[in-house]
Amino acid sequence: MGLFSLRKKIKVQTTSKDSFSGWIKCNNCHEMIHANELQGNLHCCPKCEHHYRLTGLQRVELLADKETFVEMFTHFKSTDPLQFVDTEPYAERLKRAMASTGRDEAVLVGVCQLNRIDIALGVLDFSFMAGSMGSVVGERITSIIEHAAEKKLPLILVSASGGARMQESILSLMQMAKTSAALAKLHEKKVPYISVLTNPTTGGVTASFASLGDIIVAEPDALIGFAGPRVVEQTIGQKLPPKAQKSEFLLEKGMIDCIVDRHQLKNKLSSLLNMLSGNERTYSLEQLLDSQTLGQLPQKLKALVLS
Ligand SMILES: [Zn+2]
Repeated sequence: MGLFSLRKKIKVQTTSKDSFSGWIKCNNCHEMIHANELQGNLHCCPKCEHHYRLTGLQRVELLADKETFVEMFTHFKSTDPLQFVDTEPYAERLKRAMASTGRDEAVLVGVCQLNRIDIALGVLDFSFMAGSMGSVVGERITSIIEHAAEKKLPLILVSASGGARMQESILSLMQMAKTSAALAKLHEKKVPYISVLTNPTTGGVTASFASLGDIIVAEPDALIGFAGPRVVEQTIGQKLPPKAQKSEFLLEKGMIDCIVDRHQLKNKLSSLLNMLSGNERTYSLEQLLDSQTLGQLPQKLKALVLS
């Protein structure tokens, strides 16, 4: 969990003891911004465009056309098969996460329309136990992948996760294989899958479905990696370059295909879906990608465009 000591927290300035003035200090540019302004700007800082984290529901609201999202596979509920106890029992942690988020798990999956395109959508919710992937998160994701394959619906999975859920031990690690196998079958059916990586995407989620997109999109300045920087440095005996686990660095190295600002995300995704499904062949690469991305366009995407 050392990884998240890096996590930035919004510092709230209050005018009096019990009333929240609404003014917040941006932890990136340190300017004073108002909570309403932040909310009105898709939770991006109005001064520096730093992308703050969204909850699962906010992410669905961002991407799904109004009132089209239908949540599925909610009958899979987390249990505590290992009776796991660390500093507190897992069952208690689950209850607490449910109470604080109003959600029953760290994922929402379902079907919706995105700019009037029917899609299958899965969204990890970092606010619920750091978006960690336990058996139920893995099962719901696998189920939506299988549903997408059966109905031939393009799939979008949005990740924000600390990785596998350690309280479920090996059971959570198995979800990596299960989700990956389901995606391989989706691929065989030639149904497109776009993976969207947001801050942070780490551990077993990065090491499974999040890295398996036909196209991998990331939000700006997102932390994306497997292990945290300290663990990597201890393992390889070298210092990591600055920002080595940020979207911009990973784009440069070809691990992701493009970085898309949250304001453009929905439209960019629908452009990519249209392109992948052959609905519109009139897009030029210049229209789809910014110049920096275009310059570093990996083979994978070029092949998709030219095929
Ligand atoms: Zn800012």
